[in-house]
Amino acid sequence: MAADTPKPSDFIREKVAADRAANKYGGRVATRFPPEPNGYLHIGHAKAICLDFGVAREFDGVCHLRMDDTNPSTEDPEYVEAIQRDIRWLGFDWGENMFYASDYYEQLYELAEKLIRLGRAYVCNLTEDEMAEYRGVVGQPGKESPYRSRSVEENLDLFRRMRKGEFPEGSCTLRGKIDMSSPNMKMRDPPLYRIKHAHHYRTGDTWCIYPLYDFAHCLSDSIERITHSICTMEFESARELYDWVVQATEVPWVPKQTEFARLNLNYTVMSKRKLLQLVEEKHVRGWDDPRMPTLAGLRRRGFTPEAIREFCARVGVARNISTVDAALLEHTVREDLNARSPRVLAVLHPLKVTIDTWPEGEIEQLDGPYWPHDVPKEGSRKIPFSRELYIDREDFLEDPPKDFYRLAPGRSVRLRHGYIITCTQVIKDEAGRVTALVCSHDPSTRGGIAPKGTKVDGTIQWVSASQALDAQVRLYDRLFSVEFPGASGADFKSELNPHSLSEVAAKVEPSLASAAAGDRFQFERLGFFYVDLDSKPGALVFNRTVSLKDSWTKIAQPPARNARGTRAEKEAASKGAAPKVTAQAEPRPAASEGAKALSRAHGLTEDEGRALDTVPALQTVFDAAVAKGAKPKAVVSLLVNDVLGEMRGRDLEMPPFDGVAVAELLALLQDGTLSTKLAKDVLAAMFAGEGAPRAIVERRGMRQIADRAPVESAVETVLAANADAVARYRAGNANVLGALVGLTMKATGGRANPKLVADILKHKLSGGA
Ligand code: ATP
Ligand code: MG
Repeated sequence: MAADTPKPSDFIREKVAADRAANKYGGRVATRFPPEPNGYLHIGHAKAICLDFGVAREFDGVCHLRMDDTNPSTEDPEYVEAIQRDIRWLGFDWGENMFYASDYYEQLYELAEKLIRLGRAYVCNLTEDEMAEYRGVVGQPGKESPYRSRSVEENLDLFRRMRKGEFPEGSCTLRGKIDMSSPNMKMRDPPLYRIKHAHHYRTGDTWCIYPLYDFAHCLSDSIERITHSICTMEFESARELYDWVVQATEVPWVPKQTEFARLNLNYTVMSKRKLLQLVEEKHVRGWDDPRMPTLAGLRRRGFTPEAIREFCARVGVARNISTVDAALLEHTVREDLNARSPRVLAVLHPLKVTIDTWPEGEIEQLDGPYWPHDVPKEGSRKIPFSRELYIDREDFLEDPPKDFYRLAPGRSVRLRHGYIITCTQVIKDEAGRVTALVCSHDPSTRGGIAPKGTKVDGTIQWVSASQALDAQVRLYDRLFSVEFPGASGADFKSELNPHSLSEVAAKVEPSLASAAAGDRFQFERLGFFYVDLDSKPGALVFNRTVSLKDSWTKIAQPPARNARGTRAEKEAASKGAAPKVTAQAEPRPAASEGAKALSRAHGLTEDEGRALDTVPALQTVFDAAVAKGAKPKAVVSLLVNDVLGEMRGRDLEMPPFDGVAVAELLALLQDGTLSTKLAKDVLAAMFAGEGAPRAIVERRGMRQIADRAPVESAVETVLAANADAVARYRAGNANVLGALVGLTMKATGGRANPKLVADILKHKLSGGA
């Protein structure tokens, strides 16, 4: 499957290609993946890993693995090992390029002294609160620290004494001397070093001052001669500081930072702080609990690295903030497992069936191909058929609706690979609960062929009672019962799904006696299952990786009306998936009265109303934006598609801006000042606390250029400077176009209308004037 996927392309790869074409960095490509070893990697990290290592691989470069370990209190060697294990499992390798920011402490310290000597940093004795007060607010300049004018000698002396441990925590910091009136809050004399009298898992007690991210990260990139430092959007406003530190310390190697949107997934949390809480407070069984979004959890659940890489490729890389539906992840793993899982029979909720027409004591060995849907694939096993069987409780109904194609009194059903049976008697206990069935079989239907002139629609799974093996089966559902845990203002843990794990005592066919931890199967009609590590000989434990029910295809393309019952079952069977049990409804909550009222009042769809209704913080923003004249539909779309995911990604309960700002942003979009892409950039800046949209646009000069003339002249400049690329395009290499669009966009500071750029480029490249 993965092999068929076209090589991904995105704005980062275009940029790297363009840099290589321009022989920037001597044509070298060096990326890095820089986790902090304070937790396990999750599916969001997988996106970053696929990008960092993927780019290096595709451009014959290297990708370093660097532990970003500058915070002694939260880091642990257990996490370092887990991170390495998970990256290797995902299919990537850093080779010899394993690094630790903590190995650079001495070098970083020297660079800090250098900054002081150059008059670009000072020791500041403001407390944290005072510092925040002096920093001021967006749109108004801050105040300079009274310690800002200390002499170089005094600063050097104080910094050395900080290192020696003479001062208590919090009493002073080393700060960059930049600009207290910068519109970018990050540039208002940021702290670079702080005191922490803490034991570090690698450097022990050697240090009691630790560099902060903004100082350590860019310089580590420089020390390692990284070319493309790829990170997520929340670091966008830190880029200016990244560049400042690299320049101010006058290090010889100048790396560049590029940002992309982080992956957000619904029905889960991805903040390591929250994941740690789930582990420590035992809401889950550990970091590798199959319900966790961690790579260790997904692995234990039965996901394959191929499926996760494919998922990341499908999600793609862009700057737009967005939330991906968990159903897409499930859909991708289902496709992958479909091709690699032999089909076997298992019964999750056993109901005893006696075939009273079958001779007592006789056992017939039926032939069961492992790949019944896939003729070229070989392999089969014997399945014993006997007088006593188990079927699934759910496959029998005493009083079924007309379109129930399974077993009921007087009705017939086909047993997979076996015979057609007819229910003749229902046995109940005193409470009226069905405890067993008696059925007859038709010997002429071996292999499931219905006698001439009759028709049996349903096929169900079964096992022979005396040969079946007991197995514990763990069925997983989403970890949270709401799409965006914590977004409603409630504690995210109060929104855990109480039914995320159910364990059932199942019966499985005897061929599974040889199954071992790590094996994968499809239990026909039930889903894909993975043999858990907890399995012991004679005591199998299975995890359901994913059920067969695909809600993604429904989201992506709603099913044709009435595609239920027999036809749907047959279609599913012919696609290789076993027939579905029933056309089940999505596990979506019904729209509440509040949601309905919202929908009615603003002409929204019920889904839109529901989305707003579940997140009160957004409703406030919505109301204010609409009161300012913004179109309700546009507001909802922005809030639900962009704002909500980002809030979750950043672990926020409220967006850091109000409805007035949202209305202003939409107005800029509507009057053409901003393209959709620029609007997303502005939104990201709003999240970074850079103020109101109009002010951001003005300050950054972000206005979209939609006039032809300036774009044409930018295109001409780029074409003139890239004659080789033009020649390659004309020789048939259409891929070059993307790189040229990227270069032109860059030449216009990202402000040109990209479609216009592409149009003009195509026109000119095909010989137009
Ligand atoms: P925290 O949850 O504490 O904010 P983090 O998830 O950012 O931490 P890091 O160890 O700093 O954890 O992440 C390592 C790298 O992975 C960073 O470059 C970060 O940008 C990237 N990353 C983290 N989360 C995601 C995500 N959801 N999608 C894509 N990349 C991510
Ligand atoms: Mg981080």
